[in-house]
Amino acid sequence: MDLSGDVSGVKNLNLAYRGRFAPSPTGKLHLGSLFTAVASYLRAKSRNGQWLLRIDDLDGTRARSESIDSILIDLEKMGLCWDESVYYQSQHLQDYERALNILRQRENIYPCICSRSDIQNLSTDGLKYPGTCRTKNISSSELQALRIQVPNVTIRFKDLLHGHFEQNLSLDIGDFVLRRRDGFYAYQLAVVVDDRLQHITEVVRGSDLLDNTPRQIWLQQLLGYTTPDYLHIPLLMKNNKNKISKSTSETLLDLNSPRQLAIKILRLLNQPISADLEEGTLEEIWREATLHFDINRLPQSPITIPS
Ligand code: GLU
Repeated sequence: MDLSGDVSGVKNLNLAYRGRFAPSPTGKLHLGSLFTAVASYLRAKSRNGQWLLRIDDLDGTRARSESIDSILIDLEKMGLCWDESVYYQSQHLQDYERALNILRQRENIYPCICSRSDIQNLSTDGLKYPGTCRTKNISSSELQALRIQVPNVTIRFKDLLHGHFEQNLSLDIGDFVLRRRDGFYAYQLAVVVDDRLQHITEVVRGSDLLDNTPRQIWLQQLLGYTTPDYLHIPLLMKNNKNKISKSTSETLLDLNSPRQLAIKILRLLNQPISADLEEGTLEEIWREATLHFDINRLPQSPITIPS
């Protein structure tokens, strides 16, 4: 597949809208992931676009095939039909390697043997990697991650919901991982390659990934890829202020009543719901919701789900 850079420099102007939903198959679909799925689906359909499904099964130790099956089945039960065939990250390892090699030719990519706890001890804020291994001589027999050295550069972009966002890569993030110690390609590299290969024009996903976006834009720039637009939707939180990340009793989906579930999600997305709509079939609900989908009505702050 073509991983070479864009030469036109024209940003998404002539491209038909292509969005995606990219769940990690570490469990069943839950209220939080369905919320993201619906937002990205309605946005794509309201723009007359394609809605693609990508399974983020890069991490073979966490991805489970029964989770993949159940996610696909549940999306179908919800009437959320994706376009084109499902894209599996696990089938694109060579593409990630190719992108890594392109970056290696131009940037300082170095092995790092620091563990998570080393980094917590080394870094002043417990998060930012201070570049400890940058100048170390590390034998290839040691278990190592690959990091890319970041410049002192500020990356800015305009999120469609949150507006202007900026981050200085060296001050706010530090050198980051492209291939993990366990040999898996890192999310930051994979997502950039995937969005490129799927020709995604706009990314709709949870706001927990807002501060990952500047890293991804920087990688896109290094690789000569077009940067998609971004819309980071609010997270659904439990009463205890934790992000919904697993199916629990409060967030379990009742797929015997997909229509009620669809209405519940539309309410959470603050979209208009007419009395007629509540009585409609699932198809009618999505058709109407697509017609009236308005990103200006989306809430900006996290939404707490009562238990
Ligand atoms: N797989 C990620 C998740 O489930 C989403 C990645 C993305 O949308 O960029 O949180």
